[in-house]
Amino acid sequence: MANSFDNFIAGEWINGESYLENRSPSDTSDLIGLYAQASRKHLETALQAAREAAKLTRDIPLETRQNALAQIGRELVSRAGELGTLLSREEGKPLAEGQAEVKRAGQFFDYYAAEVLRQEGIAIDSVRPGVEIEARHEPMGVVAVISPWNFPAATASWKIAPALAFGNAVIWKPASQTPATAHALAEIISRAGLPAGAFQLLMGSGGEIGDALASHAGVNAISFTGSVATGRRIAAAAAQNLTRIQLELGSKNAVLVADDADLSLALEACLAGAYSGSGQKCTASSRILVDRAVHDEFVARLAERVAALRVGHALDKETQVGPVVSAGQLAANLAWMEKIRASDAKVLCGGDALKLKHDGHYMSPALVAESRNDMDFNREELFAPIAAVQKTDSYEEGIAVVNDTDTGLVAAIFTASLARARHFQRHAETGCVSVNLPTAGTDYHVPFGGRKNSSLGAREQGRAAVQFYTQTKTTYSRAG
Ligand code: NAD
Repeated sequence: MANSFDNFIAGEWINGESYLENRSPSDTSDLIGLYAQASRKHLETALQAAREAAKLTRDIPLETRQNALAQIGRELVSRAGELGTLLSREEGKPLAEGQAEVKRAGQFFDYYAAEVLRQEGIAIDSVRPGVEIEARHEPMGVVAVISPWNFPAATASWKIAPALAFGNAVIWKPASQTPATAHALAEIISRAGLPAGAFQLLMGSGGEIGDALASHAGVNAISFTGSVATGRRIAAAAAQNLTRIQLELGSKNAVLVADDADLSLALEACLAGAYSGSGQKCTASSRILVDRAVHDEFVARLAERVAALRVGHALDKETQVGPVVSAGQLAANLAWMEKIRASDAKVLCGGDALKLKHDGHYMSPALVAESRNDMDFNREELFAPIAAVQKTDSYEEGIAVVNDTDTGLVAAIFTASLARARHFQRHAETGCVSVNLPTAGTDYHVPFGGRKNSSLGAREQGRAAVQFYTQTKTTYSRAG
């Protein structure tokens, strides 16, 4: 019998009304555990506890708060090997990627531990003689964090850490596909000495508990990372209560390989950007635009490398590409491959379901060529190990194609020209730009977010997070 794992509500571990099976996508016979599913009653209890806790969290002495976050960060970093193995086992990304993600999660807590002490505000004279003005940041109160499965530790940590650092109470609804990582992270946070209700874990379905949380008037701010479709629903629900929202959504990112690019550098970046995490990244390089002058050589070299990628169990050290997250995701990917095969584009390699030693959700990474930007698979986020090449005639055409999409998280260019790199940096309609670097892979101490349908609200990460997790109060005072 598998172990069962509970929700953390009002400072206690609480049984679920039901439990959800969590199986490894690398091997569906590997039952990781049974995870509690919260009910509406649990949600109400959690909200009540969060409201009470928010009255305390705002006044936790700064060094106590700082120490709590630093303790969480240290434990995550020191247990990155063990917890990264758990993350890879349930999510399917190769072991090295899972372990790096847990380490990164710890770095967010470490970074925001220090941010606790920054405490920036303004103190200035009024235009009215004898009057002084102070503007300071105050916590929002109760913050709901709703996170996706593809970076189950990192996305949650880059929200929970600043939310706690700035004195809020947090209710976290993680994705149903990755409850083991969520539970492990919650267990660490539960030992940090925060008041009961300051941090709560509510595992449960998105459509029920996620929706109820997003619609609840008792929530003061919602930070969400997930798909554009769910983001729209959350925005609509939050609008009813005028709740502050921050949405980080999907994207259809492009890499532009110019005629003067270092092709070896571009090749490694496309491989990592398109196929790491089985392409299930908001920063995935799914559109690869290659200048006519270097197209044939580059595409031939890339196809050879893609075909040679080793697909396997996430915990096998030889694995370069793990399974995709679920049977449903695999079926959707294979359906896209059928559409692609039926189009004018050409599948150079991959795109087939694979039967391996273990019964998991495996497919061979696909590279598609001779595609056009108006083809549906170049417009919709596939969230799959599938990338499509388009041939471009010039840099000018290339950047126009980069921007011809309704999302805008990240864009990359490979070029030796400073002038082009600078032009690209200024004119790419994305929140993040990479020059001679992959689309995937960002730092934790600088703002992160997109444009167009990829983001809504204040930026995440780094010092930018203060904008979302606090509200400014302006005080006018006169002595006597
Ligand atoms: P998803 O939208 O299906 O789910 C995200 C979260 O929302 C989950 O916790 C889910 O249970 C919950 N949810 C589902 N329906 C809900 C509802 N009606 N109300 C409230 N919550 C609900 O996304 P996913 O499949 O978990 O993640 C993949 C998506 O996330 C991709 O589109 C990817 O691009 C995006 N993503 C974006 C970023 C970023 O920073 N921009 C980072 C990682 C992932």
